Amino acid sequence: MQLPDLVILDEKEKILHKPSQEVKFPLNEEDKKRINDMLLYLKMSQIDEEREKYDLRAGMGLAYVQLGILKRIFVIVNEEEDHSFTNYVVINPKIITHSEELIYVGEGEGCLSVNREVEGIVPRYARITVKAYDIDGNPYTIRVREEVAIAFQHEIDHLDGILFPDKIDPKNPYKNINNMREI
Ligand code: ZN
Repeated sequence: MQLPDLVILDEKEKILHKPSQEVKFPLNEEDKKRINDMLLYLKMSQIDEEREKYDLRAGMGLAYVQLGILKRIFVIVNEEEDHSFTNYVVINPKIITHSEELIYVGEGEGCLSVNREVEGIVPRYARITVKAYDIDGNPYTIRVREEVAIAFQHEIDHLDGILFPDKIDPKNPYKNINNMREI
């Protein structure tokens, strides 16, 4: 596999802290290619051999703003138990319902734009229902749970200019931990 040529910005870049704009359809060919490149990049980052070959960090999600483009588009690649990969292309997303239950990643969240250790946990809904558009502009509704739900919420935050460390109080990085379930 040939690694797509993507430059992922670091959190120091101001653009990562700006909100992205709604996308109009149809997408141009450049955007469609970029979306497919993002999916392939994430998939390769999750395959041990490719990750080592290209010295990558493993990533599950990537938003357009991380490439310096303020459009409300993100992708997620999730490796399933049978080692197949599920791709999600999510454009102009809205969370329409969510669980009461909160969860968090015990080892802490990661982000391809945050190149440092961050102490603390981020509360996320255990299940969310999202309305969004696919690469061809077709609307769809999807219900996601557990780690995929966390990835969706992390990426939706990117579209609003929010990085996961922004959601952690450094004075109390494990706030309310007893009211949430670890995954
Ligand atoms: Zn991120």
